[in-house]
Amino acid sequence: EEVDNYRAELEGIRIKGQGCPKPIKTWAQCGVSKRILDVLKKNNYEKPTPIQVQVCLFSNQAVPAIMKGRDVIGIAKTGSGKTLAFLLPMFRHVVDQPPLEDTDGPIAVIMTPTRELCMQIGKECKKFAKNNLRVCCVYGGTGISEQIAELKRGAEIIVCTPGRMIDMLAANGGRVTNLRRVTYVVLDEADRMFDLGFEPQVMRIIDNIQPSRQTVMFSATFPRQVEALAKKILTKPIEITVGGRS
Ligand code: ADP
Ligand code: MG
Repeated sequence: EEVDNYRAELEGIRIKGQGCPKPIKTWAQCGVSKRILDVLKKNNYEKPTPIQVQVCLFSNQAVPAIMKGRDVIGIAKTGSGKTLAFLLPMFRHVVDQPPLEDTDGPIAVIMTPTRELCMQIGKECKKFAKNNLRVCCVYGGTGISEQIAELKRGAEIIVCTPGRMIDMLAANGGRVTNLRRVTYVVLDEADRMFDLGFEPQVMRIIDNIQPSRQTVMFSATFPRQVEALAKKILTKPIEITVGGRS
């Protein structure tokens, strides 16, 4: 019965774009590392949710969208597991890059609209990134100096709110961090980002990241303004919708 329910859920997935893979149904079939598999198990993430299936897993036969390096728009309701859908491919991407030099900025940047979400994603990130990857949270509403001190020690991954990130890029005459090494960008909760008026800040950050980057966007809804934003920052995206689209 459980399997049937799961199949029904998967059938609610609609995909636009080329080269879309077949879904994979277990973590074991996917290409995440043994270490990540252990964390998934320890946290009772028994099997991937539908959005995770399409977006983040891969096998020899079928390489799902993000793992393949494609730009992706993922639309699924709140609570459907979008965070892991962009984090798991991100870890793989990051470990595949040459290590950071002393003056390098991050490889991955996750933008999110609120401080609470920023901390929540940072926490999730740190569960998986134990010793090999450094995660730094950059958000407003608190002093910047501690965040500067942490970031100066180097971070492969930055989780940020756009306003504070812009301040951070300007801090200490631009010597704290930079976006030159960024090749993986996440825009989380794109609809709320837009509602809260952060589009200009998002664009300012994106404009300073190399165009050859991989960009993924997640949202609970996909109104026209968010679609327009996607057109500006994504290249030939695969659009994946799970469940109803509002
Ligand atoms: P969204 O961003 O779509 O709102 P989240 O990524 O915040 O959803 O996930 C919602 C909740 O579901 C979180 O508590 C998360 O830990 C949990 N979760 C995510 N993926 C799985 C999974 N594969 N199995 C079980 N729980 C999961
Ligand atoms: Mg989310």
